[in-house]
Amino acid sequence: MIGRHMIELPVRDPCDLCEVAAREERWAIIEEGEHTLTVINPWQFEVGQCCVITRRHVATLLDLTGEEGAAVMHYAKRLAEALVSSFRPLGILTFQNNGVYSGQETPHFHFHVVPRQPGSDWGIGPPQLATFDGAGRKRGTAHDPSGDAQRRERVQAPARQLAETAALIRSNLPG
Ligand SMILES: [Zn+2]
Repeated sequence: MIGRHMIELPVRDPCDLCEVAAREERWAIIEEGEHTLTVINPWQFEVGQCCVITRRHVATLLDLTGEEGAAVMHYAKRLAEALVSSFRPLGILTFQNNGVYSGQETPHFHFHVVPRQPGSDWGIGPPQLATFDGAGRKRGTAHDPSGDAQRRERVQAPARQLAETAALIRSNLPG
């Protein structure tokens, strides 16, 4: 399916999300579906931020079957409910990147579900759009990526902390 469209995809070999699925990293997986896995994001720009990923290695929204698309939204909604119960966030941000020009970094479909809290410098959207100010949100301006590496390092959570956060979210999934 990849290559069916003209969107330029990121390259990551081996695919980190296929590895999560194949190794069945129990600490990372919050919920399993027939077509999807709900996993915690190792980069916690917000505490509790997660993704719903496809079991199949497909890159973009354009590559999903109708069943997969429906499953993604079904599990994203369940996750959002669990995040609200777990963290009482001010808001829930969802986003999904298609192609390098949209900020996609891994060529495996993933739908972000993020509880927003005050105090992060993460802004709206992916790390490439890191801050509210000067993040390419004004017409004709470009994001300054000079702070991205530091920001990334700062929010890479240790495995034990990820496991605890994942367990909390799992315990709050709707019945
Ligand atoms: Zn993959």
